[in-house]
Amino acid sequence: MKKEIGLYVHIPFCVRKCAYCDFASFAGREQDEAAYVDAVLREAEKRSQMDASIATLYIGGGTPSLLPPALMEKLLTGIRNCFDFLSDAECSCECNPGTVAQAFLDTLRRNGVNRLSFGAQAAQPHLLSLLGRIHTWEQAEESVRMARQAGFENINLDLMLGLPTQTLSDVGETLQKALALEPTHLSCYGLIVEEGTKMCRMVESGAWTLPDEDTERDMYELCRETLAQHGYKQYEISNFARPGFACRHNADCWKRKEYIGLGSAACGFLGSVRYQNPPDLSDYLTGKPAEETVISPEEARFESMMLGLRMTEGVSDAAFRKMHGTSINDVFGKQLEKPIRLGLVEWQNGFLRLTRKGMDVQNSVLVELL
Ligand code: SF4
Repeated sequence: MKKEIGLYVHIPFCVRKCAYCDFASFAGREQDEAAYVDAVLREAEKRSQMDASIATLYIGGGTPSLLPPALMEKLLTGIRNCFDFLSDAECSCECNPGTVAQAFLDTLRRNGVNRLSFGAQAAQPHLLSLLGRIHTWEQAEESVRMARQAGFENINLDLMLGLPTQTLSDVGETLQKALALEPTHLSCYGLIVEEGTKMCRMVESGAWTLPDEDTERDMYELCRETLAQHGYKQYEISNFARPGFACRHNADCWKRKEYIGLGSAACGFLGSVRYQNPPDLSDYLTGKPAEETVISPEEARFESMMLGLRMTEGVSDAAFRKMHGTSINDVFGKQLEKPIRLGLVEWQNGFLRLTRKGMDVQNSVLVELL
């Protein structure tokens, strides 16, 4: 039987750079889109020589919805010609409200995409403007309506917490407006201030003030409580889904399953090798090779814990044994004594998982394991 793996495709184009963004994305490079799709398809052909089936596809960015429908069609058709997809493969595409056209959504649907993720972020105009987002909340609502019209049922909304000037009542209002759109999935991410971004400069200069730690924790708790009340199950630190709608692609990454990455800056993980394609668009277009890193067995075991503990179900000891040939306790038993004693991690039905208290201090638990 063929093994099942994931496939990630990076589309690095954006209308303009958001204030907080340090992703490998570029504004004003639309003239490179056609050459880029050709380069991704060349890479797909190169990486397709393996005995595997694609269980999940994730097209991320950047702003994949900026690609003209004809180019997206070429990309999806080409990829399907290179790889063998499972008939029930989960195929997701990120879209940015304000760039979504009905023809684009129809193209995705026609070519097997069955899940959409919209970067909606916040319902308040002043917050969207501070983030440098190109869209309004109303455009996010309109995008969801168009997606439903195109036949999409599985829809995620990304929301952001801990923004400068954001209040608890802003988060409450955003949640209510998001819930009114009845998404199957919500991702609620805390802002990370990345070096080199406008956000970092504004915060460091004192021009923008972040909410204090307590307020940020209250925002997160409000998300957890509100979404639980509305039937969304938290399955990862930042991710909530209706039953049966957890993102399989992300869950597989956290379970350390193998995946191929295509496109500039894309990462892949096959066997004991992780690779990253050149983050610079021009380097990728001129064929600069990926950088490869061999993961030692010890690093692989730590990766399983670092990734798996993000999920509320935790790390399966049976899966750990299958992947590493040894049990969690054989490797980490000694280091786990203290976090277990402090009530930060616990065993439940063969899974080691963070407790509610442990989720708040996930990093310190991982330091213990190191
Ligand atoms: S749309 Fe996304 S990838 Fe593009 S600049 Fe904004 S945050 Fe970055």
